Amino acid sequence: MVDTPWFTDLFHGTRPARLDIEGVSWGVDRAQPILHPLVASAEPGEVLAIVGPNGAGKSTLLRCLYRFYRPVTGKVRLDGEDIWAMSPRQVARRIATVLQEPASDFGLTVAEVIELGLTPHAKSWNTSTSDYADVEAALALLELDRFASRQFGSLSGGEKQRVMIARALVQRPDVLILDEPTNHLDIRHQLEILELLEALPCTVIVSLHDLALASAHAQKILVLDGGKAAASGEPSKILTPERIRKTFAVETAIDTHPATGRPRFSFHLQR
Ligand code: ADP
Repeated sequence: MVDTPWFTDLFHGTRPARLDIEGVSWGVDRAQPILHPLVASAEPGEVLAIVGPNGAGKSTLLRCLYRFYRPVTGKVRLDGEDIWAMSPRQVARRIATVLQEPASDFGLTVAEVIELGLTPHAKSWNTSTSDYADVEAALALLELDRFASRQFGSLSGGEKQRVMIARALVQRPDVLILDEPTNHLDIRHQLEILELLEALPCTVIVSLHDLALASAHAQKILVLDGGKAAASGEPSKILTPERIRKTFAVETAIDTHPATGRPRFSFHLQR
């Protein structure tokens, strides 16, 4: 996937950005914060994985990062600039998202849904031929060519997810934010998408349930638990059996995968 010419075509002009989370907290009610003040950062081009149990605050943090929730305290900075000092369009030109619930499709075809990713950069409603080449590159890269003229609504969950990733890629973002992108994907597509995310020139912030995928493909991991940062740093230092026991309440055996040389995780319940 990443060795194809489409990959290079799609990423001309990408300037990976630095993203800083400076004491960001969020909640509906100040007395009961959902996210406690958090400090973290992603260097340009880095993959930052956010892991944590259900309800830990992963989606809430991501919503703060793509300017959907305004932090109650703290700031999110894109290359040093507060994203709330930027217009929604300025943010949309630089940050693309792949969210858990794909937006309604209004009867669009797969190619038309992907084309929507061009909107933040469009000067008019007309898509130019060179822009359309990006849509074709994204269709090829995500192996969606044969679905191009299918109704988006008729696709399976995993196919829809790949369309949403293709749509985010044609946006040519400097930062790509993904909330559980592997949820509906079969094993091969899970591995391919993580390999793709690692190879992208843009900065990637991704929430993941699979600790092995996070460990293999992220440079940095942020562990969230109860809306607080339980740990952050390099995967091999962070994803230890002790940390996993405290955060996820499971026992873990970690060894080295004989084929990939990467850490292999096996879990069992505490007895
Ligand atoms: P995760 O993505 O880690 O599963 P979420 O960020 O979705 O967790 O949610 C964290 C907690 O905040 C959950 O208990 C959830 O019910 C709560 N929560 C999230 N958004 C809101 C909201 N708008 N109003 C009230 N509670 C919310």
